[in-house]
Amino acid sequence: MLFDSHAHIDDNRFDEDRAAVIARAQEAGLVGILNAGACMESSARSIALSEEHAFIYAAVGIHPHDAKEARDSDYEQLADWTRKPKVVSIGEIGLDYYYDLSPRELQQQVFIRQLDVARQCNKPVIIHDRDAHGDLMAIIKKEAKGLTGVLHCYSGSLEMAREVIKLGFYISFAGPVTFAKDGKLKEVAANVPLERLLVETDCPYLTPKPFRGRRNEPAYVKFTAEEVACVRNMEFAALAEAATINTKRLFDIG
Ligand SMILES: [Zn+2]
Repeated sequence: MLFDSHAHIDDNRFDEDRAAVIARAQEAGLVGILNAGACMESSARSIALSEEHAFIYAAVGIHPHDAKEARDSDYEQLADWTRKPKVVSIGEIGLDYYYDLSPRELQQQVFIRQLDVARQCNKPVIIHDRDAHGDLMAIIKKEAKGLTGVLHCYSGSLEMAREVIKLGFYISFAGPVTFAKDGKLKEVAANVPLERLLVETDCPYLTPKPFRGRRNEPAYVKFTAEEVACVRNMEFAALAEAATINTKRLFDIG
């Protein structure tokens, strides 16, 4: 039992063989894939995928990279989309100070406006945070009251993880937890409460070991789950089941 809580199978890197990728995910025993939106177009593609496949769910949102493209009407569109039955979240949204593809102030505004949409529509959020821990935590504390969600592809400290968990959020681990040199992340994975932990691929990016360097795909979520189980001294099946239950609880998937 496994759930890929964050994928981008609408990405054009899957255009040649998307059906085979989805079939392999099912063969690998995945019970669900949550496909995250990154802009208005990919959010629409995410919804289309969720309507074509029973085990695919959609998130809709504007990634911080695309903050500079956001228009006022987009927020209404996002809210409208959440009325569709397979749209379970607003995401991915947040801050990315590594690439800085949109001005930081604008990233913050677009993030906050989407937190407002999520609150208004009563949906959890999927949060992207790269090299922006300080501002991100400040915004979550001030602007995410009453909201829940997940910090996807978690990259912060154990201390920060404990803080966001206290605020009602979940922590999701992706491929980097399998990389040998990432001891800090393994420490977080070993110590976060089991009932607040998710696993994901973020495919086509961040391929876990042993396929690091290749294109990632949902079936590979098992390698991340295996590593998390290993650092926690748990059976793989128990970890996979807990992460799946957590994903379904957070996103209200029956
Ligand atoms: Zn993503």
